[in-house]
Amino acid sequence: MTENTAATVTTPGADAAGDPSELPAIAFIGLGNMGGPMAHNLAAAGYRVIGFDLVPEALEKARAAGVEIASSGAEAVRSAAASPRSLVITMLPAGRHVVGALKGSDGSDGRDPVEGLLAAAAPNTLFMDCSTIAVEDSVTVRELIAAAGHRVLDAPVSGGTVGAEAGTLAMMVGGAAEDVAEATPVLEVVGKRIVHCGPAGNGLAAKVCNNMILGASMIAVSEAFVLGEKLGLSNEALFDVASNATGQCWALTTNCPVPGPVPTSPANRDFKPGFAGALMAKDLGLAKSAIETTGIEGRMGLLAEEIYAAFAEGEGGSKDFSGIIELIRAQSTPAA
Ligand code: NAD
Repeated sequence: MTENTAATVTTPGADAAGDPSELPAIAFIGLGNMGGPMAHNLAAAGYRVIGFDLVPEALEKARAAGVEIASSGAEAVRSAAASPRSLVITMLPAGRHVVGALKGSDGSDGRDPVEGLLAAAAPNTLFMDCSTIAVEDSVTVRELIAAAGHRVLDAPVSGGTVGAEAGTLAMMVGGAAEDVAEATPVLEVVGKRIVHCGPAGNGLAAKVCNNMILGASMIAVSEAFVLGEKLGLSNEALFDVASNATGQCWALTTNCPVPGPVPTSPANRDFKPGFAGALMAKDLGLAKSAIETTGIEGRMGLLAEEIYAAFAEGEGGSKDFSGIIELIRAQSTPAA
């Protein structure tokens, strides 16, 4: 997984889909905040998309956007497999959901039996998991898919619901070059920047590392604003200096945690997400687990995980992650 492979970056042109008669049918499992708009965009680009979700409202929304609705995940996969070419995309909350959907269940847990996606797929089907899941879970996912005689890509995304709706997600892809090439026209519909990070698992590794940078940098930017306020510095003055100096970063210049300097940042709308604190806490939990498994010296990442876990326990879970500045202010000692 840590093999050093030069990344290949694709920035697609406008007409990514090509001839509709040659497009693969896509079984899309998980039509939530991210998967819903991604499936809509694929249907709008001319793909036959057969979707499934456990939530009826998600199904209705998808149907209205041109997605065919199946009665189960396995049914969606089977229906796609009836086309000459097919692809299975999963966009689910966490690793246990992906593993559960792939394997299905025999009903021994007392619930209704669920047919797994793997058993329903035609031999050698390409599975692309876009969920953000633990590195360990992604190993299980890869092994399950390979053992069932299929191929696998991990393609976690960045860019939030706005990026999913606009089709401008950043896609971090891990897998064999020929499989990435096969999936690229599809990736180009949902994403703006596609980076092939190396073998399967490396997309997820890139996502976990990127979000560890983001969590730690948002805390650093927020602490700097609170410190500046205590020292009598206006937020605008600090922004003007840092955004043009060595403190420049995305957390400051795009998602600025104070209202004013960046009018589009969530701080200007009472921290309505954006990227919710609960999701940042989840991603930092994945980083923590990877730090512990690999044994790297990762104090900043571990501290960021602790800080965001506390933030997400309260109201912060549903606020934009830049709302961490409110917790930092609240926990700061009042000036004497
Ligand atoms: P979500 O909870 O809105 O959607 C997940 C959907 O999966 C739900 O609608 C749920 O009903 C469905 N689901 C769960 N188990 C299922 C099953 N067995 N079969 C069919 N459907 C099932 O979550 P989301 O915001 O769309 O996030 C999806 C993934 O993308 C997560 O891993 C998340 O970490 C990642 N992500 C989210 C964002 C964001 O801003 N929301 C950004 C980047 C990455």
